[in-house]
Amino acid sequence: MMVQPYKHEPFTDFAVEANKKAFEEGLKTVQAYLGQDYPLVIGGERIMTEDKIVSINPANQTEIIGRVAKANKDLAEKAMQAADAAFTWWSKTKPEMRANILFRAAAIVRRRKHEFSALLVKEAGKPWKEADADTAEAIDFMEYYARQMLKLKDGIPVESRPGETNRFFYIPLGVGVVISPWNFPFAIMAGTTVAALVTGNTVLLKPASATPVVAYKFVEVLEEAGLPAGVLNYIPGSGAEVGDYLVDHPRTRFISFTGSRDVGIRIYERAAKVHPGQIWLKRVIAEMGGKDTIVVDKEADLELAAQSIVASAFGFSGQKCSACSRVVALEEVYDQVLNRVVELTKQLKVGNPEEQSTFMGPVIDQSAYNKIMEYIEIGKQEGKLMTGGEGDDSKGFFIQPTVFADVDPKARIMQEEIFGPVVAFTKAKDFDHALEIANNTEYGLTGAVISNNRFNLEKAREEFHVGNLYFNRGCTGAIVGYHPFGGFNMSGTDSKAGGPDYLLLHMQAKTVSEMF
Ligand code: NAD
Repeated sequence: MMVQPYKHEPFTDFAVEANKKAFEEGLKTVQAYLGQDYPLVIGGERIMTEDKIVSINPANQTEIIGRVAKANKDLAEKAMQAADAAFTWWSKTKPEMRANILFRAAAIVRRRKHEFSALLVKEAGKPWKEADADTAEAIDFMEYYARQMLKLKDGIPVESRPGETNRFFYIPLGVGVVISPWNFPFAIMAGTTVAALVTGNTVLLKPASATPVVAYKFVEVLEEAGLPAGVLNYIPGSGAEVGDYLVDHPRTRFISFTGSRDVGIRIYERAAKVHPGQIWLKRVIAEMGGKDTIVVDKEADLELAAQSIVASAFGFSGQKCSACSRVVALEEVYDQVLNRVVELTKQLKVGNPEEQSTFMGPVIDQSAYNKIMEYIEIGKQEGKLMTGGEGDDSKGFFIQPTVFADVDPKARIMQEEIFGPVVAFTKAKDFDHALEIANNTEYGLTGAVISNNRFNLEKAREEFHVGNLYFNRGCTGAIVGYHPFGGFNMSGTDSKAGGPDYLLLHMQAKTVSEMF
């Protein structure tokens, strides 16, 4: 099967009037379907429940995006049975057929691109640019993983001796539980789901409770693209109830989780326990938190450093696992970088993400708002507040972009994931010291070095211990197929999403040797 070579989906240029208009149309389309009820999808059947998850607009708490049916243990069990039954035949379908479903789904999403992005503006509070990037990434995952599956379908050649033929190839695992976060409610939800599907597994999808509507819309797209009933089951619900039940279930073969460190650890530990009737060791793919650092060398483009810090710290209100939450600057340039970052931060427009000019919208919900505001109070004890520090949750969950200076590298705001628009600065006496500070958290997701010194860049290449390291740019914005993404240590199992070996995590290898 011949396909066009993979290229990432281009970002939309909103300076072009036609694109701006198209996005505004997308917002209108979404506005017209706000507040609807959405069912579970189990074995192709639509099931409505009394109990609902209410998805709201984080920029305007009174606006309801949708009311989504909520699974409980019984419904999770029903979904498991549907997925288990579907696995018997879905696992035997041709990889080409499965890849074609992804290609078609990508085409459908591309045709409705701005509608999906507009839904992300409403449901997750993403500004236009961030929403557009999330949708583009979802398309990329489908295009990329479909091609990867076509590459892997015949296995990898191994040696054979005279009179013998050996084959080495990959088969699917079984039922996968996909648990996704709200911060890339389209891209990560879609990417983790389609990776499991295209490799021949069946899926129980439990999206984040803050963003279940976009996940439902995606399930509809896959159905339209020809995904048969039972292969993907949509079961939003409480992490503690449905999540634990399915993680413990003896028929669960693997869990693909993206979210916080604490929930990731809980899943990893629970999945290790073998339950009665279970005949395998579960596999866990866990992509967890980050505490990501930008290092600024003394020989560096300082304007580039400041721009990179501001974009990486405050894009989507700092709610990215890759967001820059720590800056380590060499003492010779510390004040200059800090002052420029403060100056740029003060210019950022915070407000309604529906307006094109907004750089930063709200944070996701009340508990995120409360947690971030608590960290800002801690930051006031641990460092010098340079700008921001204010919040307003009267209508939406808005927090000003916040910069702290002169923070000890071991301080809490330097060590713990805040997941909000807060960045802390610390000073290093030389480049080795800067790397030592950069490596002193329990995480290891992303990092960046701004430097013109080639020796220092090469040193960082070896010694800066993160899964995604960037030179002379910010530390966010990984692109599928170009920057395979995943972290070390407590950032997870280093399962590189959007990379050439990601699909293998969803399969097991089989060797067949025949003598003639
Ligand atoms: P979260 O851990 O609170 O929730 C993630 C998902 O886990 C949700 O669907 C939630 O309902 C579910 N969950 C909660 N308790 C569960 C349980 N006991 N069993 C099973 N599932 C359970 O994370 P979040 O707030 O949605 O997302 C933000 C976090 O995700 C941050 O820590 C961020 O760094 C991380 N993240 C990591 C990556 C990455 O690639 N490494 C990408 C995006 C986000």
